Amino acid sequence: MGKLKLSDRQLHALIEAVKLGEEIKPSQSAKRKAFSKYRIEGWENSKLTGIFYSIQRRLGLIDEVIEELVGVSPLILDPWLRATLRVAVEVAVFREPGEKTLQHLKGLAQFLSRKTHPFVGYYYYDLLPRVVNYVPKLDTEEKRLKWEYLFPEWFIARMRSLLGDEAEELLKALNETLPTSLRVNRLKASVEDVESYLRRKNVRFKRSERVETVIRILDSFNPGWLLNKGWAIAQEEAPAVASLVLSPKPGETVVDLAAAPGGKTAHMAELMENRGKIYAFDVDRARVRRMKEVLRRTGVEIVEVITSDGRNAPEIIGEEIADRVMLDAPCTSDGTIAKNPELRWRLREKNIPKVVALQKELIESAWKLLKPGGRLLYSTCSMLPEENEGVVEWFLKRHENARLVPVDGPYSPGFLEGTMRAWPHRHKTIGFFYALIEKGSL
Ligand code: SAM
Repeated sequence: MGKLKLSDRQLHALIEAVKLGEEIKPSQSAKRKAFSKYRIEGWENSKLTGIFYSIQRRLGLIDEVIEELVGVSPLILDPWLRATLRVAVEVAVFREPGEKTLQHLKGLAQFLSRKTHPFVGYYYYDLLPRVVNYVPKLDTEEKRLKWEYLFPEWFIARMRSLLGDEAEELLKALNETLPTSLRVNRLKASVEDVESYLRRKNVRFKRSERVETVIRILDSFNPGWLLNKGWAIAQEEAPAVASLVLSPKPGETVVDLAAAPGGKTAHMAELMENRGKIYAFDVDRARVRRMKEVLRRTGVEIVEVITSDGRNAPEIIGEEIADRVMLDAPCTSDGTIAKNPELRWRLREKNIPKVVALQKELIESAWKLLKPGGRLLYSTCSMLPEENEGVVEWFLKRHENARLVPVDGPYSPGFLEGTMRAWPHRHKTIGFFYALIEKGSL
């Protein structure tokens, strides 16, 4: 491949897009706005879009390089300087720029002076040679993996302590794009109905071997019609397994304690053949609105949606009323990085204890809701043991009448006997944890 060529105008467009990306979400809208200001179109648009997204994916690493060079966190720098340095590091450290492009990188000093203050431009001009000559010190395995797969070092260390050398396979899998998965909603259509629709549209697909109603779409395809009709719902295989593990029956009373946007609620209603009752709690109003829409489309009739903190659920609907409780707990979501690549840089080790504290309060609330003999599924889309086995062990110690019901498939055993984990590299789905707990009498 030839060396990277970027004109002044293209660099300016990238910088504006990166800067705007801090203010406007999703970053795609920021990119579109900045590129249209600079009239970036056609082939130029595809080339710059690729660079823009690779900056987003590498952002944490790029910022670490900047911090090493300037001695302070880039987050406290002037926003124009920060965006310019991010682009300069992407171009000079991660790619091979041609001579002219290097000249254009120097020219950005004037651009910066105009946008902010001449001092900022001088500062950048002085710093640039160190950016261009930067060589990373890859003296530990964690650092090598960080540069190759773009994850925070602490996360890599955690995964290595769980999986040893197999962790590299996991990191690789988290960087691969997962095909879109659909779960057929049998309240509205059969698997064959959906498959013949896809065939008519000439779309290649593969049925999941583990969940008979999950279909993986292998071509780029907009499933809008299927979703609007309620024939299917966008859901990965691993979360679909959660409702199957809890396995609610027609006529039962079920509580879904962190339910929005309703993927599992709708699945449970289907398994219950729309008979019985589901109380679906969530605190997030916007997500609850999406859930209501999902439940309407899928033809679910047995759900009472309650916009409230799940920790208040026993006060609202009463204690010991549920045959089953689904606690698909709020979590760091690191199991979904393949679906949300930029999430990796938002993960903060210091935030974990706060999430764990909420998970513990929610599982206590779930327990109060459960009738004796009832079952609770605790699940997360995180791979961190603190949020999974850690919460469950803590919980089991507090409740003599709580017993783990072993979950023996379709994925791997968890690190606590009886629990289960789906792994992106082993099972080609998102990372997921499952613990099924039964309430005995005291
Ligand atoms: N079960 C959902 C599904 O299958 O579509 C996904 C749930 S998501 C993993 C976790 C949810 O917990 C989010 O929708 C979030 O708004 C909600 N949440 C966070 N804190 C909560 C709380 N204290 N009580 C109830 N829900 C909460």
